[in-house]
Amino acid sequence: NDAAGNATSGRADELLGGLLAPGMRRRSCWSRYETWRYYKHFPYAPSPHLLRKLRAYEARHRRCAPGTPLYARSVEQLRSGRSADEAMECNYIVWLPFDGLGNRMLSMVSGFLYALLTDRVFLVALPPDSADLFCEPFPGTTWLLPLEDFPVANLFGLGHNPEQSYTRLLSRKKIVVDSDPVNNATAPPVPAYVYLSLGYQLTDRIFFCGEHQLALGKVKWLLLYSDLYFVPSLYPIAGFRDELRRLFPARESASHLLLRYLLHPTNPVWGLVTRYYHAYLAPATRRIGVQVRMFGFASVPVDDMYNQILACSRQERVLPEIDDDGGAAAGTGSKTSTAILIASLYPDYYERLRARYYEHAAAKGGAWVGVFQPTHEERQATENLAHNQRALAEIYLLSFSEELLTSGLSTFGYVSSSLAGVRPVILLTAFDHNVPATPCRQAVSMEPCNLTPPRDVECRRGGAVDGDDVARHVRVCEDFHNGVKLF
Ligand code: GDP
Repeated sequence: NDAAGNATSGRADELLGGLLAPGMRRRSCWSRYETWRYYKHFPYAPSPHLLRKLRAYEARHRRCAPGTPLYARSVEQLRSGRSADEAMECNYIVWLPFDGLGNRMLSMVSGFLYALLTDRVFLVALPPDSADLFCEPFPGTTWLLPLEDFPVANLFGLGHNPEQSYTRLLSRKKIVVDSDPVNNATAPPVPAYVYLSLGYQLTDRIFFCGEHQLALGKVKWLLLYSDLYFVPSLYPIAGFRDELRRLFPARESASHLLLRYLLHPTNPVWGLVTRYYHAYLAPATRRIGVQVRMFGFASVPVDDMYNQILACSRQERVLPEIDDDGGAAAGTGSKTSTAILIASLYPDYYERLRARYYEHAAAKGGAWVGVFQPTHEERQATENLAHNQRALAEIYLLSFSEELLTSGLSTFGYVSSSLAGVRPVILLTAFDHNVPATPCRQAVSMEPCNLTPPRDVECRRGGAVDGDDVARHVRVCEDFHNGVKLF
């Protein structure tokens, strides 16, 4: 009984080919057991190595999670002000919120992958605006950092350059890199925690050097402040490269599998998604998601953006073309129908596209075309839980499309494409408010763009992004010449 209909792949199953661990209560998180009925593409099965790694991770998480004796001891050490010298069984990375929902989802999967690579435990510090968005991802335990007894003050207000950021600790010689055995006696004690400032300012860009990874390996607690998809920048680090290759034999599958593994909308969000899907999208034979993001620094008049969407659609053959001769009832016998799902803060593109297919018949056999938009919120309101729930619902609704047309530079669109397993057509950005000459490009992969990769870093070991690595692991993004993406 395929509730959503039209699933196109052979490998669809409830636990996504073993990606999800069994044994969670269904009622606690319906989406975890149901998304497979809605996704249209299953392009990559998880590798056996990834599955082993995830199961080992889940066991570690259960041993070290809040509520366990090992967690209590680890928090005590943090309170005491320095990392213990004893062998550490549980090391942590705490994700902190920064920026909008798409950014947050991308930094979450990046931080989680880093935890997998470094045998850490991944915890999230969630403010009230995010309290009811995502289900617990790991069976039999929690990923929520208990905020009330966490010894670091002002956790949500530290910003991108606090005292405890890695680079500042280094410059004050509070942490040393490559301490040789002779000098070890004089080395300072390992700090109790290090703050990693890896947002678009990339304060701690040296993080992406192998020698710094060795130093950070001794630190029990890391706090991660980032709004980036920084996975592409982990590839050049020599210590991670082979493991990444085994985890994701197809590089393009990294974000796709990590997002489907880690993030599951809570029941209230899933209610929004499924009610909308069944009422408006399920009846169609094909769904096209269109995500229109207008950034302040690249705003253009609505008509210009609308024309860009149409030009792009003609160029890449995305939306159905229309019959220009006025539209007799050409389509009464048609068996196909298309639902166009619009996600945008504004109603304008929905209104124009709906009128287009109302006033004209679709060309070639006259398929029916419906145009739908769940909300138009007018402005970003990340501090508001209900707003974020609606935004998350739209990300998932987009991800249930057969095809996607997304906006350049938008992490909201990046997440939708990766979740969908779709290489989107990406609208190019109107930098300096100039409508781009090329309206859009077909993406080379479903991977998000890392909009701020580390540049101008000199690593002693392991290398940073250099020309060679750019050629091997990543490409310049379709939508941003300073960004890189896996392909
Ligand atoms: P980005 O700024 O496009 O990279 O995406 P983010 O998700 O990080 O931040 C944009 C935020 O604005 C979203 O999280 C939403 O809060 C809001 N937003 C932007 N576009 C939409 C949309 O199409 N639908 C909804 N519901 N919210 C949106």
